[in-house]
Amino acid sequence: MSAPTLEPQADWNQLYIDGEWRDATGGETIPVENPAKQEVFTEVPAGTEADVDAAYEAAEAAQSDWAATPRAERNEIVQNLLDELNARFEEVAGLLATEAGTPGYRAMGEFATATGDVEMALELEPPEEEVRPSPSVDDKDNHIVYEPVGVVGVISPWNFPLHLSLRAVAPAIALGNTVVLKPATDTPITGGLLIAKLCEAAGVPDGVVNVVTGRGSEIGDRIANHPTPRVVSFTGSTSVGKGVAEQAGKNLALPALELGGNAPFIVTDDVDLERAARAGAFGSFFHQGQVCISINRHLVHESVYDEYVDLLVDHAESLVIGDPSENEDVTFGPVQNETQRDDLVEFIEGSLEDGATLETGGEADGLFVEPTVLSDCTNDMPTACNEHFGPVAPVIPFSDDDEAIELANDTEYGLSASVFCEDAERARDLADRVEAGMVHINDQPINEDHNAPFGGVKQSGLGRYHGEWITQELTEPKWISVQGEERDYFVFE
Ligand code: NAP
Repeated sequence: MSAPTLEPQADWNQLYIDGEWRDATGGETIPVENPAKQEVFTEVPAGTEADVDAAYEAAEAAQSDWAATPRAERNEIVQNLLDELNARFEEVAGLLATEAGTPGYRAMGEFATATGDVEMALELEPPEEEVRPSPSVDDKDNHIVYEPVGVVGVISPWNFPLHLSLRAVAPAIALGNTVVLKPATDTPITGGLLIAKLCEAAGVPDGVVNVVTGRGSEIGDRIANHPTPRVVSFTGSTSVGKGVAEQAGKNLALPALELGGNAPFIVTDDVDLERAARAGAFGSFFHQGQVCISINRHLVHESVYDEYVDLLVDHAESLVIGDPSENEDVTFGPVQNETQRDDLVEFIEGSLEDGATLETGGEADGLFVEPTVLSDCTNDMPTACNEHFGPVAPVIPFSDDDEAIELANDTEYGLSASVFCEDAERARDLADRVEAGMVHINDQPINEDHNAPFGGVKQSGLGRYHGEWITQELTEPKWISVQGEERDYFVFE
């Protein structure tokens, strides 16, 4: 097997189904843009429902052999995938910069998390087979075994394309399932076709991983409502995720949903403000704020409010803005697409109309939206009550801990949150009272560790990634009972 070609101008115009590169059945393609330049650099196939059907057919056909492959052999292949990925950091970083406006430091972070996804998958183990004597029938043993669920549909977003696709694909295949992956249309390469090339190079058997690029509006329903998958793993917005759950429910496939967030960042009156503001700036401006767990609202005690805002402004103005595909020193790139930019400008303008003060930023040029700090904000302003998903930091004052919690929880979302507070007991009390799946004390909320459950409450999702939590979603417990001596059925003489 020759080494895959991974540069942006490589041939990306075929789907990967059943171990073969195929044209989309409709013959149409979708242009892919570099967001910094707003220029098309390649085209990918516009997959159709017929392509989705073919991909599921291949995944279903491959599933029983893959599940029966001893775990050690499956792991050898997953390890090959990890080796293929590890050998290609430079090329992958180049693709992330071109396709997703990813600065170099963030590419390193995404690469480390993505390789961590595969490393974790190698370690995942369903519980060992257990035998329990029946409590109701004499001489019966109940064996509890865990089997792969079967075929898994994966739909991923554009903001961390490589990581968020591999976070589902790697555990699914390691645990004996097969996969059909549909990446986001803004990032079809790093979220999909790149992974297909790496799987091919790693010797992943035909049909075990299939990649169909195409518009969610055209093939998304078919990915979710096809009768084959038993789990549909979706990462993306809450509105689309609810539709996916409805479609998956038609065939009683389990919807595993990682959805939107609106993370509060609580700063109390006893903190080292320099430290809190540095963390706050990172949590708002990392990857231009396009992270489901980035800070959406800064909730700051009124006694330190002005000083905090000044520090945040200093950090926002120190970022190096530019095209990550041309300059390695850039720390702040473009947002992903025009919808993102237009929504952000609308949210900023709406907040200013409602009485917020513009401390810095606020302008957009092409797809570059300036790092923006807004003071005098309230929880009902557009930048605060919506998941703005961009480089905007609305700062809201509070007067005591109860008010901080009330503000923090006044959102439909419950993904991630942070509490900056010196007093450990008070910090823990605040963390316990925040309604979120993940709360970080004395850090900003952008964290992901493979040994901790990742996911949200309220409208932020269903289920959890990583470790035993994803293992449970991707395997089914099965009860096999073994009767010894003939039992007495009472009704017969
Ligand atoms: P999105 O618009 O919901 O899209 C996500 C994926 O769904 C894309 O692959 C998209 O395809 C596809 N899709 C679109 N319409 C569909 C349909 N009707 N049926 C099935 N799939 C469909 O989200 P996004 O804009 O890519 O990502 C941003 C959102 O993702 C934010 O809300 C963010 O918070 C959330 N997110 C959550 C997590 C988490 O772990 N909780 C992580 C990252 C992002 P197309 O690209 O072709 O439209």
